[in-house]
Amino acid sequence: MKKTTIHEDKRAKLEKHTLACPNCGYPVLDHMTQCPNCKSKLTPVGYQPMSDQKIKKIRWITYSIGAVISIAIIVLIIVFRK
Ligand SMILES: [Zn+2]
Repeated sequence: MKKTTIHEDKRAKLEKHTLACPNCGYPVLDHMTQCPNCKSKLTPVGYQPMSDQKIKKIRWITYSIGAVISIAIIVLIIVFRK
């Protein structure tokens, strides 16, 4: 039987993504762009800031989904009113 608990597994995963701030040594997550302790800039590992195009695309998809859900709710209200 596996002895590692979910909590330990989570912690191990978190530690894997923890780096020491090059400026103050404070443990920071590797996707962070700024140290929460000394506010110095960090270089995120394996993370690239979202491009404007990607943000626009995500926003467009979000709006589309919202519109579809709104239409579906309106249609359902009309259907169930009868
Ligand atoms: Zn720092």
